[in-house]
Amino acid sequence: MKINRVETFRTAVPLHTPFKTALRTVEVAEAIVVKITCDDGTVGWGEAPPTVVITGDSLSSIEWAIQQVIKPAIIGKSLLNYEQLFQQLHSLLVRNSSAKAAVDMALYDCLSQYCNLPLYQFLGGYRQELETDYTVSVNSPKEMGEDAEAYVKQGFNVLKVKVGKDDIETDIKRIHEIRQRIGYDIKIRLDANQGWESKAAVKAIRKMEDLDLNIELVEQPVPAHDIEGLKRVTDGVDTLIMADESVFTPYQAFEVLKTRSADLINIKLMKAGGIYYAQKINDLAEVCGVECMVGSMIETRLGITAAAHFAASKKNVTRFDFDAPLMLAKDIVTGGIEYNGRMITLPTQPGLGIERVLV
Ligand code: MG
Repeated sequence: MKINRVETFRTAVPLHTPFKTALRTVEVAEAIVVKITCDDGTVGWGEAPPTVVITGDSLSSIEWAIQQVIKPAIIGKSLLNYEQLFQQLHSLLVRNSSAKAAVDMALYDCLSQYCNLPLYQFLGGYRQELETDYTVSVNSPKEMGEDAEAYVKQGFNVLKVKVGKDDIETDIKRIHEIRQRIGYDIKIRLDANQGWESKAAVKAIRKMEDLDLNIELVEQPVPAHDIEGLKRVTDGVDTLIMADESVFTPYQAFEVLKTRSADLINIKLMKAGGIYYAQKINDLAEVCGVECMVGSMIETRLGITAAAHFAASKKNVTRFDFDAPLMLAKDIVTGGIEYNGRMITLPTQPGLGIERVLV
């Protein structure tokens, strides 16, 4: 089974409501879609969105890395020595994790089809159903309260609340307003997207603990490079602290794990460069007794299907942040994961289970 063709396409799908975090606002989900065709006719799909403020990867850089660097190196290669193939993919060029992720998921799609297994079973098959949270974008406290209430009415049990854009006092008001509207039973996880400074974060999270705001976890309170600050927050509060932008690679995961700088790790295929390295991060974390969440960028149901296959395959992945396709005004994919409100079911067909992509 050899790689015959690697093609890339550009897509753009509008969001029905803008997605707002401390780092960026997204109104259109743009992406590079990858199609890999093998000599036996097997087709594998992948996707990578540009996230210049997170990965540094743009549409043009993703396209360039795939077309100019990755494609010439993998054409004609056998998929059956896939350890060689993935090692090569990661040593061809540094960074460019989104381009690697798109190719990695297409290769895993082909491989698991060859083995006649749905990808999540090829990887371990731990569960077949996942529950996603839903993101409350950062806005005025009143708007966020209204949004949170609407999402709970739609059936979501876990809300991921974006904070870290203004001063911390306003963030506490935001959570207060949300709790007033939805009560205290719904899980709230906060994501500051690097927006706080470590001492202020400790003070704010302690205040939330004193106010009994019942926060399940706080994601990436401090800037990505500030591992010492991350550890200061983790050590200084009772609330669970999750590393997101601080952990792209297995090497960064190892650093965070050995210094006990976070209680949890958020793995995203776009940061790790795909499933091959995402598995290494999850394995390291599991050995250290640290659970993982699998999240995503603003991706279509194609990229999220790959992430969901990986997340469903592993016991140590206990939290799922896969709401992005629910924010899109149209669906470009046939097949793949299915949503029923907050529940996601993995497909039973071999591979990713993607039948068609409108590109
Ligand atoms: Mg995050």
